[in-house]
Amino acid sequence: AASPSKSYNITLLPGDGIGPEVISVAKNALQLVASIEGFEVAFEEMPMGGAALDAVGVPLPAETLNSAKRSDATLLGAIGGYKWDKNEKHLKPETGLLQLREGLQVFANLRPATVLPQLVDASTLKKEVAEGVDLMVVRELTGGIYFGKPRGFSTNENGQEIGFNTEVYAAYEIDRIARIAFETARKRRGKLCSVDKANVLEASMLWRKIVTALASEYPDVELSHMYVDNAAMQLVRNPKQFDTIVTNNIFGDILSDEASMITGSIGMLPSASLGAAGPGLFEPIHGSAPDIAGQDKANPLATMLSAAMLLKYGLGEEKAAQRIEAAVLDALNRGFRTGDIHSAGHKLVGCKEMGEEVLKSIDSKT
Ligand code: ATP
Ligand code: MG
Repeated sequence: AASPSKSYNITLLPGDGIGPEVISVAKNALQLVASIEGFEVAFEEMPMGGAALDAVGVPLPAETLNSAKRSDATLLGAIGGYKWDKNEKHLKPETGLLQLREGLQVFANLRPATVLPQLVDASTLKKEVAEGVDLMVVRELTGGIYFGKPRGFSTNENGQEIGFNTEVYAAYEIDRIARIAFETARKRRGKLCSVDKANVLEASMLWRKIVTALASEYPDVELSHMYVDNAAMQLVRNPKQFDTIVTNNIFGDILSDEASMITGSIGMLPSASLGAAGPGLFEPIHGSAPDIAGQDKANPLATMLSAAMLLKYGLGEEKAAQRIEAAVLDALNRGFRTGDIHSAGHKLVGCKEMGEEVLKSIDSKT
């Protein structure tokens, strides 16, 4: 008799715009690699974002959040669109996303920037510089200056208006993000660069002290430190020097966008948001792309690669993750391109067909 196999619950949040198109393709890929690797996946599809606003009047219904909390991992498509742009803040699709991150207590945002050999020409950098780039930015997501108090507007002693914010990190917040970063580096090439401004900012001095102290627990990871101004420069000068980068909320916001432009293809980039325990949230970094929604033009590969991150960082199913990654490369090698990454000499396909080609690649490699 077959041994009882592992089984996972995955919450799917298709959302708005191209979200449903790319999620349906990624769902098929998850199903297929699960059957090959011998585990089961049960999907629960829930409303979120503008779709939820239209259906039930809130961007994150309680049942949706509960499903995400109960499940082993959540895969999100995209949310938002022109239709809801003028809504009040609490009725914006984007507010639902903030509530979801808060509800799941995900404080670590992982964003890889990989220049695939097939897409080197999409990079904003010169070919010699872009070739072979494969890095991961681990950004602290729930602390730092975006949340620190005191904050606000006031008046100074000269009667001038002032605005002020506070960069504040507690030791435990640094410790937990650093642990995720060390573990991420361990699953990659074993190099971690911590980015801070410890020559100027006290919050950064504490950051550096705590990250340095943790290094003895991860002797297999090579730790270095860099000031953020230098890191911003090095990212465009010689991005190949980086494996895993860990940094605070505001520096990570800026550096992860900078890193994504190195690859130049927004339709290819996945992300993961992780907490200490509990399920993670996985989503492509692109938005709902309302300009191409419903036309079968979206590139589903960012979402497929997000599904691979879900398998690797969310479920610990690394082999299944590698199957999806390898299949994405294989479909590109066989010449298939959606519009956003298309160039002369390649086969232009839509979202569905690209998905089918990746599935064929998964099948052919078993
Ligand atoms: P956000 O919702 O984060 O504010 P945005 O509105 O700034 O995002 P996107 O929705 O990501 O931006 O779209 C930016 C551009 O990139 C659009 O022209 C869109 O069509 C294109 N784009 C985004 N994602 C994809 C994709 N998966 N495939 C093809 N094109 C895409
Ligand atoms: Mg948008």
